[in-house]
Amino acid sequence: MHDVIVIGAGLSGLTAAGALKSNGADVVVLEARDRVGGRTHTVELDGVHLDLGGQWLAPDQHRMQQLCRDLGVETFPQFHTGEKILDLAGHLSRYSGAIPSLAPHLLLLMQAALSTVDRKTKKVHPRAPWSARNATGLDAETVEGWARKRIPSQRVRDLMTVGTRVIFGAEPAEISLLQFLSYSAAGGGFLHLAEIEGAAQETRFVKGAQQVANSIATHLGDTIHLEHPVTRLVHGESVTAHTPVGSFTGRRALVCVPPNLAARIDFEPGLGHRSAIQNRYVMGQTIKCHVLYDEPFWRKSGMSGEVVATHGPISVVFDNSPADGSCGALLAFSVGSAGLALGSKSESDRKAVVIGQLQRWFGPKARDVRAYIDRDWAAERFTGGCPVASPVPGALVTYGPALRAPVGSIHWAGTETSERWTGYMEGAVLSGERAAAEVAAAL
Ligand SMILES: Cc1cc2nc3c(=O)[nH]c(=O)nc-3n(C[C@H](O)[C@H](O)[C@H](O)COP(=O)(O)OP(=O)(O)OC[C@H]3O[C@@H](n4cnc5c(N)ncnc54)[C@H](O)[C@@H]3O)c2cc1C
Repeated sequence: MHDVIVIGAGLSGLTAAGALKSNGADVVVLEARDRVGGRTHTVELDGVHLDLGGQWLAPDQHRMQQLCRDLGVETFPQFHTGEKILDLAGHLSRYSGAIPSLAPHLLLLMQAALSTVDRKTKKVHPRAPWSARNATGLDAETVEGWARKRIPSQRVRDLMTVGTRVIFGAEPAEISLLQFLSYSAAGGGFLHLAEIEGAAQETRFVKGAQQVANSIATHLGDTIHLEHPVTRLVHGESVTAHTPVGSFTGRRALVCVPPNLAARIDFEPGLGHRSAIQNRYVMGQTIKCHVLYDEPFWRKSGMSGEVVATHGPISVVFDNSPADGSCGALLAFSVGSAGLALGSKSESDRKAVVIGQLQRWFGPKARDVRAYIDRDWAAERFTGGCPVASPVPGALVTYGPALRAPVGSIHWAGTETSERWTGYMEGAVLSGERAAAEVAAAL
């Protein structure tokens, strides 16, 4: 019998397994895919490392920053010099700095909305959002419902919608205000999640984010069993995880898969409140589209490569050129319901749609594409969407405390369970460390 069966070799599972193993525990890691890294996945296209999943670090994501240093993983700053493009309901304008080019009265409304969000965020603690004042009311209200009541401008609401869509991969009508505030608080505030400099999009990985998972996996060696999807978990005094290629018994299990996928495992006996909360988590919807060019031609016309668009198939664009400047690259995100619509098209149709949009913003040179690749995470069986799963409105106050609480010999990790940087690589690592300490104490 093993000490611990870790399920999932994303950053949370790998971090937990590493911590437990260095504590002397006998650990086995069962991973469904034929690779480690989960929602981080780096590919090489035309000699360029591209992240199809997570790719940015914030300066205050201290555990990830430390891991990069420890593992010798190189990073570099996100390019953001020059003017940005705002496509506001079909009207194009350019702006510099963090504030979009809006009419003065709209700017005032925007600032008022952001400071209200900021004030409310400070009143919700992501460790226990259900304990916030009026938590039931906040969880019953959606971000969309709140914005319609509190922001008296469609244009400003549209801009808030873009931010919400990109951060959650979901429509504001799908996210409760409590979840929105708790998630923002976990990452240092809504603007901290949305911005580049000093914020969540500040730093990239020279050779891709998956290097972190790959390096931890190298240290773990044959502890990891790839292509071992856990389908059934029988638990009591001990735990037996069943996969189509064998069963593994341990004293404890540590489930490191997102709640929507934990809900697909057949637990015997059932999990009570934990089942209730995981059944109510829904993955966001994001397609990440990379377009390579011979050079970052937009920089020559003083553009940063950033776009914010309130309507249409693409919501935001970033300059994603490699650190060595060997070519130019633009990264376009199709998110929420637009991502769902784009995902229903063939790859060549998706490419045509993306390039058509880039041409609208960056001119005819955007047609001279060297290579294209995208990843529709909703089509990934062992993720089911991205970047993060969110509880449906009302679920957090009713079942939220069950998200992290062990059920007998089963413990839980994964970025969705983190009280800091929920939804991010940092949250995954922190959750893995928290759960490993919990399991070590229980053994
Ligand atoms: C497109 C995209 C962009 C993102 N951008 C960023 C970003 O810029 N910065 C950032 O910090 N974060 C970003 N994220 C989020 C970040 O990647 C995740 O928060 C983090 O990688 C999650 O790690 P995890 O271990 O919690 O979960 P996962 O990475 O999802 O790992 C879970 C693992 O469990 C496996 N699994 C699932 N079911 C089973 C089963 N039944 N049996 C066995 N194994 C199973 C999966 O294959 C997977 O390997 C992004 C994510 C995506 C997809």
